[in-house]
Amino acid sequence: MASTESPVTSAWLGELGSELAALDARALRRTVLTPETGQGERVTIDGRSLLNLTSNNYLGLAHDPRVIEGAVAAARTYGASVSASRLLCGSTPLHEELEERLAALKGQERALLYGAGYLANLGVLTALAGPEDAIFSDALNHASIIDGCRLSGATTKVYRHLDLDDLGELLAATPSRRRLIVSETVFSMDGDLAPLPGLVALARRHDAILVIDEAHATGVLGADGGGALSHFGLDSEGLIVVGTLSKALGSAGGFVAANATVIDYLLNRSRPFIFNTALPPASVGAALAALDVVAAEPERRENLADLAACLREGLAAAGHPATTSETQIVPLVLGPAEAALAAERALREAGVLAKAIRPPTVPEGTARIRFNLMATHTVDDVDRVLAAVAPPV
Ligand code: PMP
Repeated sequence: MASTESPVTSAWLGELGSELAALDARALRRTVLTPETGQGERVTIDGRSLLNLTSNNYLGLAHDPRVIEGAVAAARTYGASVSASRLLCGSTPLHEELEERLAALKGQERALLYGAGYLANLGVLTALAGPEDAIFSDALNHASIIDGCRLSGATTKVYRHLDLDDLGELLAATPSRRRLIVSETVFSMDGDLAPLPGLVALARRHDAILVIDEAHATGVLGADGGGALSHFGLDSEGLIVVGTLSKALGSAGGFVAANATVIDYLLNRSRPFIFNTALPPASVGAALAALDVVAAEPERRENLADLAACLREGLAAAGHPATTSETQIVPLVLGPAEAALAAERALREAGVLAKAIRPPTVPEGTARIRFNLMATHTVDDVDRVLAAVAPPV
């Protein structure tokens, strides 16, 4: 068939192609990997079974029969989609029940569901901060936080990772109408913990609003799975908690939990909430069932923590550099993107799926393999991973 592309179209397509080729040359091009199975502790890719160390399905709930049944029952009752935003007619009693349960889990008055954790971060930061305000953001915060800071139009000050002194100095030196501090509690690429007691104290001292992103902590940290506040035994008053349903809760969607006025304000002013179709009933039903398991089976959290300690100790014993990880996310930092990709290939060869994480997801020169454990892995699985990792060079 003759090409119908105009010269102008082919010029810009050519530009895109060159950019992709440049990414390729720097080992930074990305592709989609599609397991033939779901996201269990093992996945099948190209007919081969691999141990899965790449999923955020931390408690193994995405494929738990009770959670699947929660999704199925909700879809049977309320349909495959609600086909409208919450503020039109896209709400169901299950959405309201899930918000109440999430608020209780986080020790907050109310919660609000979003289409994704990504949208929840955009939604909070853009609604609460504007050009007259300042946001203080940890240097290793997730892309959704960075994008929220940018979209808000607020002055954004990036403080050194976990560095309370740097944050304190920036707070003291930045007058503004409203000040927000924003930090992940479990950092997604290093598995380390934010110094939450210090952040709370600084926020109080400087009359700042503290927004914490509990994406990797919800369901995992704290005796009740409540997250980092529960882990540190802190009072959640005055905090704004962002979370996702898509990791330990084995579903999809995001949420914000906070004081009732904040939630009412978001409901009226947060564009990703207002202009996005409400979560499908299946996602809501799955998350509700997952919360039951989170409450009933603390041994999942304990097993996950034990496995992570085992992996960290094994890597250290083999001579790999120490990590700052204290959680189920265990990085093996290798430096150049090529080294991380080569390690990914070698691990896969040995039957382990653990993806290379490269810039811009992590800072230049810190490409890595990130091992994400699941509560449903075993000590034997960890031993298999350790046996598959090449010795340090
Ligand atoms: N915050 C953090 C720290 C994350 O790691 C992620 C997901 N990678 C998100 C937010 C976004 O959550 P979701 O996948 O539900 O959009």
